[in-house]
Amino acid sequence: MPFASLGLSPALIKALADQNYTQPYPIQQEAIPAIMKKRDVLGIAQTGSGKTAGYVLPILMNLQGKTVTKNRHVNVLVLVPTRELAMQVSEVFITFGGALPERVKTLAVFGGVSINPQMMALQGVNILVATPGRLLELIEAKAVHVSDIETLVLDEADKMLNMGFREEMSLIFKLLPKKRQNLLFSATLNDDVTRINQIILQNPVIIKIEQEVDTFDLISQLGYFVSEENKGPLLRYLIKTNDMKQVLIFTSSVYKADNVADKLRKNGVKATAIHSKKSQGARTEALRKFKSGEMPVLVATDLISRGIDIQFLPYVINYELPRSPKDYIHRIGRTGRAESPGEAISLISPEEKHHFRIIQKKMGKWVTMIDSENINLHGF
Ligand code: AMP
Repeated sequence: MPFASLGLSPALIKALADQNYTQPYPIQQEAIPAIMKKRDVLGIAQTGSGKTAGYVLPILMNLQGKTVTKNRHVNVLVLVPTRELAMQVSEVFITFGGALPERVKTLAVFGGVSINPQMMALQGVNILVATPGRLLELIEAKAVHVSDIETLVLDEADKMLNMGFREEMSLIFKLLPKKRQNLLFSATLNDDVTRINQIILQNPVIIKIEQEVDTFDLISQLGYFVSEENKGPLLRYLIKTNDMKQVLIFTSSVYKADNVADKLRKNGVKATAIHSKKSQGARTEALRKFKSGEMPVLVATDLISRGIDIQFLPYVINYELPRSPKDYIHRIGRTGRAESPGEAISLISPEEKHHFRIIQKKMGKWVTMIDSENINLHGF
């Protein structure tokens, strides 16, 4: 099915071709016509499914002819859990919005950076992508009004709830007009998400995209049994002997992320850490350099394991296991997407053995294990 059959305008069809989007992904095939018909949508889909373009394109179509905003009243509100997702989503709006004849202004706002430039930039904004806390601050300061929005999007609603944004979200819902379109996307459908659905969605079109088994099979998984003190040398051995040019390493704490990145640098491996204690500027820059290939190694906490789209990531290494099997799947889901194979490697200390078995059981897949005792780590 070509994009053209979904009712998108020629300008958007051309922009899609320019972005090498040749065919709509399943979620887009279903979401685009439904959203263009002004239906509410409940999308159960992961990052990587193409959900962003699935709502961005029809929202842009619906906005045509209605882009005049009065006095800082935005037309569309997209709520997201993290700054990174805010930036990523706004980029998609800007890319496709820029292709339209009518000018559409998109802005991403999030906490952790100064509020004044955001207040000023809010003039004339049509599409606002925001994290809940900062949005409330901006509303309070009367820098933006949400009482006229036509469409509300909750992206990664499950994560927003997990991150404790429930109260902020309820406060925001109260400020929205009763009559509006609601689009809710979530990787999982737990009780919390269901409750939100019941509050905000009106007779929604339900779209469920299962994590594709094919994609999962593209990821080759490997585990190394290794003592805690040998994790550092083994990590360097793996990076150097595999000549890894782009690898995302996960740790379970901010302290450990910094520590692993430091040790790599001391051993001549270019690496940087990204986590919640870094300034927004440092996070953006680290991610940009990593995506562009300038920085080969990024050490991260689970903060960025969801929501951030890095295409064709060849390697993910779990320096430490995440607590939840779901997070493990999200972490390794960074690799092996879009028909490019990837490798996910886990370094398993004796204390983590049992937990790794639980993860594998949940995943329904057994990972080949290698005993690092047989590897000569001397000099690494
Ligand atoms: P998302 O799930 O929205 O984060 O999208 C995952 C990735 O797929 C992004 O890098 C998109 O640029 C890409 N993408 C989305 N839709 C398509 C499509 N129809 N064809 C090719 N790539 C796409």
